[in-house]
Amino acid sequence: MVSSCACFWKTPVIFSDGSVYACPYSIDSLKSNPYSINFSDFIKLGQVVPEKIGLIEVLNGPINQRLKNLSLNNRLNAIPRCNKCVFGVCTSNSLNSFSPEELKQIKRNPSACIGGLLSIEINSTCNLKCIMCNRGNYDKINLGPMDIDMFKFIIKNIERNLFYFDSIQLFFNGEPLLHPYFDKLIDFLREKNVNNQLFRNVIIDTNGQFLTPRISQKIIKLGRVSITFSLDAFSKTTYDKIRRGGDFERVISNIKFFLKNQVKVYNHHSLFSKLQFIIMEENQHEVSQFARFWSEYLHSLKVDFSVVNINNANKYPKPVMILFKFLSSGGKQEEQCYKTGMTEKEAEIFMYKILLKNNLIPKAEMESVANLVRNSGSCSYNIQANKS
Ligand code: SF4
Ligand code: SF4
Repeated sequence: MVSSCACFWKTPVIFSDGSVYACPYSIDSLKSNPYSINFSDFIKLGQVVPEKIGLIEVLNGPINQRLKNLSLNNRLNAIPRCNKCVFGVCTSNSLNSFSPEELKQIKRNPSACIGGLLSIEINSTCNLKCIMCNRGNYDKINLGPMDIDMFKFIIKNIERNLFYFDSIQLFFNGEPLLHPYFDKLIDFLREKNVNNQLFRNVIIDTNGQFLTPRISQKIIKLGRVSITFSLDAFSKTTYDKIRRGGDFERVISNIKFFLKNQVKVYNHHSLFSKLQFIIMEENQHEVSQFARFWSEYLHSLKVDFSVVNINNANKYPKPVMILFKFLSSGGKQEEQCYKTGMTEKEAEIFMYKILLKNNLIPKAEMESVANLVRNSGSCSYNIQANKS
């Protein structure tokens, strides 16, 4: 049960029609499958209207102010969404994440905006039909691409108000690169975010299908970009099974082009790229091939990388990460990873055992991973025969 939480100051999301919602995160979205977020209890804060109502006005508006007051008075259980959320207490998004100075400022003026992560859903549609993605439930927010004027208005509004968000993510549930003028949005962002004066990080998650060389170059020029490529497969057969509608060869070649050019342009400290593999029944036999394939490629680029469970991503930050991730099956099997029959802990051990056996753990992480596996005891999970 959460009594206070900083997410009302830190994690708004804005959809392509300009509607702004308070914290999209809760136990529904984070402890369960983020591809099946329940939108019915989202709290709408207001509507951005280009040249009339700015994002800052909405974030400082009466609804958000009320939410912030409830949070400051430890009364978040009055909000159904927060009442069932465990997220606020167990992460840095609790009010403790503010410095004492910021907290004083918040208490004096609860309408203050102290930004963390702004999500802008520049496009809510997707070109794929992945098996673990519940996009069929998104009809209500299937709003298509954001108007360029809306996007520019939001960014200019932030610039004018000197309202500093640490990061901006150019997606929420859609495929951002599907925006018909993605290149123009990126150009505009680059023009405004000189020396990271508005955002320290730009975050993009993509299925990589539309990551043409031209778009890659534009993203790379943005500077500090954290980009995640959702792959989930080593072979074309598995990719086709999971990421339905995608072109495997194209995505691999797009990602290689991106990484090669990103490494050329920046020193290694400016890279934040992730190659993501969600462990599922359909792909668990490809864990080691996936890690080996990308490890060898990254070695050839002479780039420093790690192979980690997403929960450890912050412990071992490296310019590029080969990232394993787990989703909940949801419903009755909430504790279990998507279709594997394993709990998340079991799936993590399963993954690390395979990687250890195949010598795929980078040296720096070896000791802690070996300890983890050693201390796991005899896991009695029922895994598919390991074909790797
Ligand atoms: S308690 Fe949970 S749902 Fe409520 S604002 Fe915090 S993270 Fe979001
Ligand atoms: S690419 Fe992402 S958003 Fe699109 S269907 Fe797959 S999981 Fe869902």
